[in-house]
Amino acid sequence: MMLDMSLSPEQQKVQQLARDFTAKYIIPVDREWDEIGEFHEFILEEVKKAGLNCMAVPGEYGGPGYSSVIQSLVAEEWGYGCAAFATTLGGNGLSSYPLAIAGTEDQKKLYYGHLVNGGMGGFALTEPNAGSDAGSCATTAKLEGEEWVLNGTKCFATTCGYASIIVVFASTDPGKGVKGLSAFIVEKEREGVIIGSVEHKMGIRSSNTVELLLKNVRIPKSHLLGKEGEGMKIAMKTLDMARPIVASLAVGVARRALDEAVRFAKEYLDVNGKPIGSHQAVGFKLADMSTQVEAARQLVRNALRLKDAGVPYTKEAAMAKTFATDAAMRVTADAVEIMGLYGYSQDAIVEKLMRDAKVTQIYEGTNQVQRIVISGILLNS
Ligand SMILES: Cc1cc2nc3c(=O)[nH]c(=O)nc-3n(C[C@H](O)[C@H](O)[C@H](O)COP(=O)(O)OP(=O)(O)OC[C@H]3O[C@@H](n4cnc5c(N)ncnc54)[C@H](O)[C@@H]3O)c2cc1C
Repeated sequence: MMLDMSLSPEQQKVQQLARDFTAKYIIPVDREWDEIGEFHEFILEEVKKAGLNCMAVPGEYGGPGYSSVIQSLVAEEWGYGCAAFATTLGGNGLSSYPLAIAGTEDQKKLYYGHLVNGGMGGFALTEPNAGSDAGSCATTAKLEGEEWVLNGTKCFATTCGYASIIVVFASTDPGKGVKGLSAFIVEKEREGVIIGSVEHKMGIRSSNTVELLLKNVRIPKSHLLGKEGEGMKIAMKTLDMARPIVASLAVGVARRALDEAVRFAKEYLDVNGKPIGSHQAVGFKLADMSTQVEAARQLVRNALRLKDAGVPYTKEAAMAKTFATDAAMRVTADAVEIMGLYGYSQDAIVEKLMRDAKVTQIYEGTNQVQRIVISGILLNS
């Protein structure tokens, strides 16, 4: 793939760094990670050495402080290599967004300090009975003197088995639904923080997804992010920031599937000895796949341009997430189809890409929820 000349020299440089990293460290082992399904811990050391581990942490706190455009460029490259790895790194970034939104100076120093010193972060909002409907959160936080006491069970918490610090959402006023939700910083080492079952998943198998149990976990009063009852606002702003990044990851997955399908269509011969790509039915499918990849990328750029300009971008972020992740699902399925039995075999990477693509339509708000967000803005403005 050519470098995108609409990018600044710095953006191109980081994009190329991530692309080279992906080719060297990720693509050679992506299939193996998927089969073993174990967390890809060893590679994180290399990510840290490359300076790409906590991209959102501002320079004054020891991070590279990369713009959201650069974060999205890197996420696309990670997605191209392995969506599980991209999810781990993306989740790390996402976990730090609440600090940018609502963190005090001391909270930022604490949280970002963990990340720049090599720790990982987690974001625990979802519960067994509170997924799309975060207002049903059953985890509680009660103030006792100078401490908050947290109790409850979170689930599907990415990287939390390995994270050293986690943003946890809990209800400080259970009768109030979403208005009673608050956000807290919880260090993993606190007594009562317990990692429960580990999820075995269809795709992104080497990302770590766990149950997080909180049993009388005591944290200082100062670990509340923002004010009591602002949890939902913080979560929604965090997801606005994260959705273009997930969309970029999905663009990467789709781009890889397209590249695999194009290569196959050029090399694989039909019964008459002609490459199957010479058939218009295959060529047109490739054309549609390529168009979807490019359209998805441009929707991401559009959302991030608005974000960087400081204007509302919730609708555009949701549109980018919906379109890119639906496109990733279609494009990966089309790649499997073009490659026939080779595509369906675990010898080819496209079956993994198809399994990995599915989760992007589900996490960070399902694509049904994205459509609720988009239509809500259309109908109420
Ligand atoms: C691999 C993985 C990693 C994850 N990592 C994290 C993480 O790190 N932190 C975290 O907090 N969460 C995480 N999640 C959870 C994820 O954000 C939720 O799965 C997601 O928000 C959807 O919630 P749910 O699965 O409970 O589905 P539900 O909310 O139960 O929804 C079930 C179905 O109903 C649909 N639906 C629900 N409400 C409506 C409605 N009003 N209108 C139309 N359709 C509706 C949904 O779209 C979906 O199709 C992760 C999930 C996965 C699969």
